[in-house]
Amino acid sequence: MRVLGIESSCDETGVALYDSARGLLAQGLYSQIDLHAAYGGVVPELASRDHVRRLLPLIQQTLADSGLTLADIDGVAYTAGPGLIGALMVGAATGRAIAWALDVPAVAVHHMEGHLLAPLLEDEPPEPPFVALLVSGGHTQLMRVSALGDYTLLGETLDDAAGEAFDKTAKLMGLPYPGGPQLAKAALAGRPGAYTFSRPMVNRPDLDFSFSGLKTQVLLAWQKSGQGAQDMADIALAFEQAVVDTLAIKCERALEQADCSRLVVAGGVGANRYLREQLQARCARRGATVHFPRLELCTDNGAMIAFAGYLRLRAGQSEPPAVACRPRWDLAGLPPLSPALG
Ligand code: ATP
Ligand code: MG
Ligand code: FE
Repeated sequence: MRVLGIESSCDETGVALYDSARGLLAQGLYSQIDLHAAYGGVVPELASRDHVRRLLPLIQQTLADSGLTLADIDGVAYTAGPGLIGALMVGAATGRAIAWALDVPAVAVHHMEGHLLAPLLEDEPPEPPFVALLVSGGHTQLMRVSALGDYTLLGETLDDAAGEAFDKTAKLMGLPYPGGPQLAKAALAGRPGAYTFSRPMVNRPDLDFSFSGLKTQVLLAWQKSGQGAQDMADIALAFEQAVVDTLAIKCERALEQADCSRLVVAGGVGANRYLREQLQARCARRGATVHFPRLELCTDNGAMIAFAGYLRLRAGQSEPPAVACRPRWDLAGLPPLSPALG
């Protein structure tokens, strides 16, 4: 089965073609970072308009790269939420229309299920049950994945998401949007121990997170510092260590509580090098394995939507010829997916 995947939930237009026999055939991504940078964050109306401009050319390009034509497509998957409603509607309406024109099924994909399943696009995909750490710009969640499509929320952030904390912290030290990756880059020159920030909520037995207080700690440290490049690097490192330690401690606890020996990490913050190292080390110590997507599949992309859509189409799920997007959508409420991968 060949599935066209379309992602347009936020500020990236993503398109991919997934073939159940051959894997990922081609993918294209257009990032709107430059468009929104001047405003310090995503402007929803500008995002929607840019998806309108970019999506069809990107679909044509991705088809050409894969050597396929529209007639080769057996199904269409589009992100239906969660996300910005105007942006979602662009991908959903386009995807649904293409499926209608080709007389093939279309399926609405949950953006976070896309992120969650992205590590399964790699060689030797982990079998459920496993614990998934979803760390992105809008979410920080620990899920028990008992089977594909069977998700139980173990814990989540009570305020800022991890990626949001990275972005806001970077912004208050003057780094341009989106600051997460730049903050991580600045941290490379940081001196360990120059600053120490707390590990929020690690002394509580639950699996919830809270990152908004760290931002305030950084703000106070930054204001008191000389605000030079070395100060920024030192503070960035201490911030990164605090976030990563907190995530890693709760991941270990989740593996224990959920009785799992496999951890899957997905979402933009999963691209963070220090997080990857820490989780590798901690999992190795306890005889567990950790699975990440390749870097370009951590942040938003069409491949994860094509793949999640393929699994749902294979399970016989599809949408009627009407488009319903959900700006808010509970991942644990999705219908099950079976049979298992393979
Ligand atoms: P959601 O998936 O929750 O709707 P989103 O789609 O905006 O949110 P992603 O595209 O998955 O989120 O990830 C973007 C986030 O990842 C941003 O907050 C960005 O700062 C963060 N990020 C990307 N690379 C890194 C990195 N190397 N270190 C830390 N954070 C990073
Ligand atoms: Mg983005
Ligand atoms: Fe995302």
